[in-house]
Amino acid sequence: MTAGGRRGLRPDPHRSPPAGSLATGLQDIKPYCPPMLFPTIPKCAGCEQPILDRFILKVLERSWHGKCLKCIDCQAQLADKCFARNGQVFCKDDFFK
Ligand SMILES: [Zn+2]
Ligand SMILES: [Zn+2]
Repeated sequence: MTAGGRRGLRPDPHRSPPAGSLATGLQDIKPYCPPMLFPTIPKCAGCEQPILDRFILKVLERSWHGKCLKCIDCQAQLADKCFARNGQVFCKDDFFK
């Protein structure tokens, strides 16, 4: 009872490793968006230039230079107080007249 042998119990050395283990180094790479380097500078609704003044007037949900916020009727500067109607800015006199 010496013949024969036990076959099939040894692992096959010619067997290739399972496929699919090559991509383990790759990950889902998302594009990197750098943060904004400069805060957005508001633009004046009157002259459309960026407002670099220390004071920004906010009227009608828009930003204005102090010198650009004028009564549409008499061109008086309205830095102190202004009155708005239909998207236009008036001084007190012209608003109520
Ligand atoms: Zn302006
Ligand atoms: Zn006016």
